[in-house]
Amino acid sequence: MNYTDKLAVLKKIYKIYDSMANTWSTACRRYCAACCTCNVTMTTLEGDLIAEELAAKDKTDLFDRLNTVSDNRRFLPGITTNRLAELCVQGQAIPDEESDPHWGECSLLVDNQCPLYPVRPFGCRCFVSTTDCRINGYADVDPFVISVNNLFLQYIEHIDAGNFFGNMTDILIFINTTAHRQGIRENVPKQASGSLIVNQPLKVLLTPPEHREKISPILNALLQIQDDYV
Ligand code: SF4
Ligand code: SF4
Repeated sequence: MNYTDKLAVLKKIYKIYDSMANTWSTACRRYCAACCTCNVTMTTLEGDLIAEELAAKDKTDLFDRLNTVSDNRRFLPGITTNRLAELCVQGQAIPDEESDPHWGECSLLVDNQCPLYPVRPFGCRCFVSTTDCRINGYADVDPFVISVNNLFLQYIEHIDAGNFFGNMTDILIFINTTAHRQGIRENVPKQASGSLIVNQPLKVLLTPPEHREKISPILNALLQIQDDYV
């Protein structure tokens, strides 16, 4: 699949997820942004979509904000979702990862609203809760929704395999360099800084046995998108 098609597939993946998520009963409301932290992660493909949107809307000044927080503490993933799935199946130990919402809010947040909402990464889209996180201090998520979220995370990583995954700040700073962006678009990714890791193809699903039957129509819908572009 060429890179332009990958971006088109990503938009369709988001559309499928959003129409499904709109049917879920959640406590998520406009201006509720406790989940908008500096710890959001994403792929370079998602970062490229955001960069396109910011350029089209003349909002590239948002990149400047990222540079001002580049030394701040934030979640730096050491393992991708697809690699995690492989380790789980092989019964291997999962590396410890440190993440704390108190490290700060997303540097892009303005008046509790997201300035790139239509193209926000999947890591933001999938954050839903049946109760208000601001009251409880945590998100209440239906176990099936967690399985659906993992499926989408795995699939998005799969279509961007060979490119990079990392904290949103690091991905957007990386993608804002023309040579880096060109590299991932031409399938010859430039060496990333130590904070980014390489996306892996999907080999095994994280879906637990009790959700496999219910999730299969969603998986088929995702596979159908890719078939349309091969
Ligand atoms: S996930 Fe929690 S913090 Fe985020 S919008 Fe929903 S209720 Fe609010
Ligand atoms: S990108 Fe937008 S939705 Fe995601 S954490 Fe930042 S402000 Fe929130």
